[in-house]
Parts: sequence; C-alpha cells; structure tokens
Amino acid sequence: VSKSDPIQVLTGQLSRLPGIGERTATRLVLHMLRSDRGQMKALATALVDVADKVHECPRCCAITAEPDFCPMCQSQKRDPKVLCVVSSIQDQTALEATLAFRGRYHILHGTLSPLDGIGPDDLRIRSLFQRLGDADHAVEEVIVATPPTVDGEATALYLAKQLSAVGVKVSRIASGIPVGGDLQFADRLTLAKALEARQMLGS
Ligand SMILES: [Zn+2]
Repeated sequence: VSKSDPIQVLTGQLSRLPGIGERTATRLVLHMLRSDRGQMKALATALVDVADKVHECPRCCAITAEPDFCPMCQSQKRDPKVLCVVSSIQDQTALEATLAFRGRYHILHGTLSPLDGIGPDDLRIRSLFQRLGDADHAVEEVIVATPPTVDGEATALYLAKQLSAVGVKVSRIASGIPVGGDLQFADRLTLAKALEARQMLGS
C-alpha cells in the first residue's frame, strides 16, 4: 500500500469508518471518481466544516455548530427546571420528535457498563452535577431516559442514587418501550406515553 497514492489514502480513510470495510470503501471511491468532481469537493468541504465548527455544548454535551451553547440551551422557551438525561444524541432526537418534552437535556454519551470498563468518569456525569449546582439554572427534576437495557437501567439506578443524595427529584421514564429495546426505534406515541408515565426514583 503506497502512502502517497491518493486513491489508496482515501480508501484507507473510508475503510476506518464503522460498517465500511475495504470492499465498500473501494466501491465508494470508484463511485466518487465516476461522479462530478465538484461533488467530491463539496463532501471534503463539509467534512472540514464539521471538524472545525462542531463541538460539544459546554452545558448539555449535545453536539452543536453554535460558537458557544447549543440552541436548546440558549432557548428561553425551554423549561430549565426539568432536565431529561439521555444516553445519546439519537435518543434526544427521538424524544424531541414526540413534542412531549419542553424541558432541557443532558447527554451522557453512553451508559455505564462495568463489563466494558465504562464507569461514571467515562460519561458526562460530572458535567451533569456541575449543572445542578449552577444557581442560575436551578434544576428541580431530572428525568432519566436511558434505554431499558441492563446497562441503561444500571445507569438510571446510579444516577437516582447520586441525584437523590443532593436533593434532586429523580424520575425514570416508564416502560412501554420493550425491555432491551432502543429509544430511537420506539414510535413517537409509545415514547410520549413513557415520558408521561414516568416514575419517581430514589428516596
Ligand atoms: Zn446545550
């Protein structure tokens, strides 16, 4: 493999992406070579743009291209007293699509998974507690909307314990979402009902 051959370099970069092996990477490169060069450059520009501009919101850990906080954190229309904790951006998007939630979010970027060596410090849990201590954004309730999987439940229990200890009301979205299922694949009505029928956690 020549490090200077542009086709091999591009194939190599593409094949590092999830779900794309060497064969698919080769197919994509050949497809690009057959199509408009302007389109290839637009793709390259889009990649550079995302790399340069997109970052994690310092408050909720969502990804945003805004220079500072994400639009959700900046919005005056969202209730800052209710916080919904989700494990991924995809789950946040799924909950937003229900139109059932008007509070704000916190994105953990994963779930606790002792077997995979993922502990509290690997998730955005510290930033969650920093937020709670922020006097300007007094949070009264945290809704834990991690997925109904073993790891998602373990994460919910961990958070319930920690949050109760600092005097924050904690609830967990109700099931209705199949156990072992994924929030992002639940239909909107099921997800809205799960949010509505949330149950209090902790003491
Ligand atoms: Zn934000």
